[in-house]
Amino acid sequence: APKIIGLTGGIGSGKTTVAKFIEEFGFPVYYSDDRAKDIVNDNDDLKEKIKDLLGDEAYENGMYNRKFVAEKVFNNKDLLQSLNAIIHPAVRIDFEDWVKKQTKYLVFKETALLFELKLNRQCYQSVLVTAEDNIRAKRVMDRDGKTYREVETIMEKQMPEKDKIKLANHIIYNNTNLEDLKEQTEKIIFSIE
Ligand code: ATP
Repeated sequence: APKIIGLTGGIGSGKTTVAKFIEEFGFPVYYSDDRAKDIVNDNDDLKEKIKDLLGDEAYENGMYNRKFVAEKVFNNKDLLQSLNAIIHPAVRIDFEDWVKKQTKYLVFKETALLFELKLNRQCYQSVLVTAEDNIRAKRVMDRDGKTYREVETIMEKQMPEKDKIKLANHIIYNNTNLEDLKEQTEKIIFSIE
C-alpha cells in the first residue's frame, strides 16, 4: 500500500499551489475539501442522513443547498458537529477507495483541517505550507477580493501557525515566489522514503 502524506496549511498559505506542483512531479493528490463538496451531492445514503438532520431544504432540486446549510449550522456547534460526524466518515471511505486505486509509493491528501481533525495520525508524514499572516492575507485579498478584516477573521478561527509547525514533519515556507515554492516542494517530496 502507498504511504499517505498529509498536506495542509491555513488560508492563503499556498497548499493548493503546492498540491499542483506535487502532481506535476508525478504524485497523486486527493483534494479532501473538494471531494467533500462532491460527495454531499453524489452519495445517496449521505444525502438522506443530511436531510434527516437538517431537513429536506438541505437539498434544492437534488443539489446540496450550501447557503441553507451554512445558515442552519451557523452559531450551532452541536448541529455542525453532527453534520461533520456524517460527512467526515463518508470522505474517509471515499479516500480509502481512492488510495486502493493508486500505484505510486507515495500519495498526498490535501486538507485544511489535517491537524484540527487529527488526520495526521492516519498519515505516514505531514507537510505544512506556511507563510506570514500579512502575505497570506494579501494573496487571499487578491484572489477572492476579500477585505483584510475578512481574511483576518478566518485566520483567527484556524489553528495558530506556531502550533501547526510543531506538529508537521516537513515545513514549506511560502514567503517568496513560486519558483522557490516549487523548489522546496521538490526537495521535500523526493526526500520522503
Ligand atoms: P485556501 O485555503 O484559501 O484555498 P491555499 O492554501 O490553497 O488557500 P493557494 O490557493 O494555493 O492557497 O494560494 C493562495 C493564492 O496565492 C493563490 O492565488 C496563489 O496563486 C497565490 N500564491 C501562492 N503562493 C504564491 C507565491 N509564492 N507567490 C505568488 N503567489 C502565490
